[in-house]
Amino acid sequence: MRRVSVFGATGSIGQNTLDLIARAPQEYDVVALTGGRNIAQLAADAVALRADLAVTAHEELLDDLRAALAGSGVEAAAGQAALIEAATRPADWVMSAIVGAAGLAPGIKALEQGATLALANKESLVTAGPLLMQTARAHGATILPVDSEHSAIFQALVGEEMAAVERIIITASGGAFRDWPMERLAGATLAEASAHPNWDMGQRITIDSASMFNKALEVIETKEFFGVKPEQIEVLVHPESLVHALVGFRDGALMAHVGPPDMRHAIGYALHWPERRALPVERLDLAQIGRLSFCAPDPARYPALRLAQQVMAQGGMSGAIFNAAKERALDHFIAGRIGFLDMARVVEAVLTQMSSDLSLLNAAISLDNVGETDHLARIRADEALRGLMQQSQT
Ligand code: NAD
Ligand code: MG
Repeated sequence: MRRVSVFGATGSIGQNTLDLIARAPQEYDVVALTGGRNIAQLAADAVALRADLAVTAHEELLDDLRAALAGSGVEAAAGQAALIEAATRPADWVMSAIVGAAGLAPGIKALEQGATLALANKESLVTAGPLLMQTARAHGATILPVDSEHSAIFQALVGEEMAAVERIIITASGGAFRDWPMERLAGATLAEASAHPNWDMGQRITIDSASMFNKALEVIETKEFFGVKPEQIEVLVHPESLVHALVGFRDGALMAHVGPPDMRHAIGYALHWPERRALPVERLDLAQIGRLSFCAPDPARYPALRLAQQVMAQGGMSGAIFNAAKERALDHFIAGRIGFLDMARVVEAVLTQMSSDLSLLNAAISLDNVGETDHLARIRADEALRGLMQQSQT
């Protein structure tokens, strides 16, 4: 039996992961499941899958979780320290599917145990890519990409040498607003930004898809994980979301990964790697689909892509600053305090301001330093937000 833990088990990726595990329960010994406020879901899954431990990120929900698990034999725990403790419990395979920078520390702890880390939490690579990769190497641990584009790249690279790779192309659906006229974007509502045309995902990544902040994170993720240069990475708008990525080799060949927009493919690939097992995903009928379309992203529409270039050029703590400012700007958009286009304005202001502090920018990438930088960037984002609000009042 393989010992598995799922961080962020109650989310979109987490639930898809449990769906695959629940199809062959005899193969898995579930160690820990973690979640947030959805205690009923967390407890139900922990009991059904006979987990050793269930953890909610929120300390104040410990009694609720205990009550929901009463008599089941599943241990209950809550809070940040409990999440870290869960990550130190020996497991063979760990799904990292917490959303945001909060996913970094548990992922690092799992790697320190030598676990195979299935990485959906792209924020880990954006905020602390070198630390994550180095921790894996030091402990003989493996990181497997779960983001659909990165799983696609990883699969296109099987049997290939990185030296033969000329370029990597990741596709973007264009998100909810790809067909909107630019003038309408400033007034886009939360509900409109939360409706993805092709993928069913958590709310935060769905909004990040509409703004292309998700693709910006993924470009950085590509650089950190595959070790390619920024100029080797391209973004291609592909509204059908069937080609997930392409790898271009030095002989001119392009290897494309084509599949339905169902995260159980990428999750299942990481779960069974290096084997390829049957998965319950739709089989595409390309004759019926008929055609696929592609176009270049419009830089004016998607400032996030330009900011990703700045982050990669600067390196160091830029990724942590960028991600934290983006998370905070997104909080404010979700709370209705700023408009859709203001998110990029806030992020750019914070990135520009904090990047001028070279000792901060070039500090060693440790968990502590990344945490401090993340905290500061959120404060700066709040200040930038207040600046924006004053501007709009005058
Ligand atoms: P989600 O919002 O549906 O779920 C997030 C999970 O994290 C939940 O279990 C929630 O309880 C938990 N969580 C939230 N904040 C937390 C905190 N501060 N501490 C601990 N736990 C916390 O998100 P999702 O869409 O499943 O995305 C998860 C990760 O996977 C993200 O990094 C996202 O970018 C990435 N990803 C998601 C998809 C997708 O299809 N949903 C695709 C590619 C990558
Ligand atoms: Mg993706």
